Amino acid sequence: MEVPAPEILKKPLVVPHKILMGAGPATISPRILHAMSNPVLGHMNQELFQIMDEIKEGIKYVFQTKNELTLAISASAHSGMEAVMSNLLEPHDKVLIAVNGLWGSRAANMAERYGASAVKIVTSLGDNFGFEEIEDALRKERPKLLFIVQGETSTGVYQPLEGLGDICHKYNCLLAVDVVASVGAVPFLMDKWGVDAAYAGVQKALGGPPGVTIISFSSSAQKEIFRRATQSKVYYWDMKILGQQWNCYNNVRPYHHTTCSTLLVALRESLAIIAEEGLENWQKKHEQGYRRLKEGLERLGFEFFVKDENKRLITVTSVTVKDFDWMELVNYAMKRHNVEIAGGLGPTAGNILRIGVMGFNCTPQTIDRVLDVLEEALKHAKTKKA
Ligand code: PMP
Repeated sequence: MEVPAPEILKKPLVVPHKILMGAGPATISPRILHAMSNPVLGHMNQELFQIMDEIKEGIKYVFQTKNELTLAISASAHSGMEAVMSNLLEPHDKVLIAVNGLWGSRAANMAERYGASAVKIVTSLGDNFGFEEIEDALRKERPKLLFIVQGETSTGVYQPLEGLGDICHKYNCLLAVDVVASVGAVPFLMDKWGVDAAYAGVQKALGGPPGVTIISFSSSAQKEIFRRATQSKVYYWDMKILGQQWNCYNNVRPYHHTTCSTLLVALRESLAIIAEEGLENWQKKHEQGYRRLKEGLERLGFEFFVKDENKRLITVTSVTVKDFDWMELVNYAMKRHNVEIAGGLGPTAGNILRIGVMGFNCTPQTIDRVLDVLEEALKHAKTKKA
């Protein structure tokens, strides 16, 4: 062999236990880890089809939707963004993108890769959008699609959505929402709010593993997908075919790709836990988790990046880093305590810390433990500030 077997692979695998309190993934529960040790099923096995049907019911519950085109994609949440753009946009279509952090900018980048023209409305970091501002842009630009993020994790901002669907539809525009970091923790009423496309990874407030994405399209969005003149540019996310594998059109289930049964089983269990606890209780738990963290951070003297509390995303709390060395804090928490705290991302890199309270970590014990670690790490990081 010109390339010998790597010696490093002959050593035992070591995966440490960490408390993941950044912007996601969050630590996952023993029940889900256990579910992931089940045997692998073939992608055409009846038992897996049954699990896929159960998953669809769970997605409909957490999204509060009756949409028939509801399924999971075998990839991380970026795939949801890609699927929205590649299915709903054709070359030269116009999409309006609300940008108040990294994720809006990334969506605009994707839309342009599919040949669409992306018009941005931008607001300052730490702020969200008022509906008047959005309506003005819809009136002026007449886009086919509006894209907006409910939980902007790069800043820790929450975007209200109730009523936005009606405004979009008045201008014959579809509404697409990224609910990756918000669904499960805050209300998301897809049908009632007139949302036409929504997606989420499950590694955040849904308590599951990364690598699988849930997505749903309204009947208007579905019509658009079937009406489009050109083929969707990406085979892997093509909802016309993928929807068949997920039995969304009451037909046969042809092979589209080899789904990862291990991740689907884990997704099923994440949704099952929420169904058992009740979505309202799950949301209440996240609200309480946020309050406990917030009070603790106030006690420790942290300053919130999002000044208006009504605009704060409860899953990811952002604080400023003026009087301490943020990297020292993050490294200290990780090296000494195996606790992951995130720095800023994209436009906030170097300017904030992000502390996530999501899923299995959303307990008073874990939050208090992390606050203790933060107190110790902050003392250390203050001494390192030049
Ligand atoms: N949207 C938002 C709001 C996110 O926070 C993230 C990930 N942090 C993504 C999309 C992309 O998710 P993934 O890394 O699972 O592809």
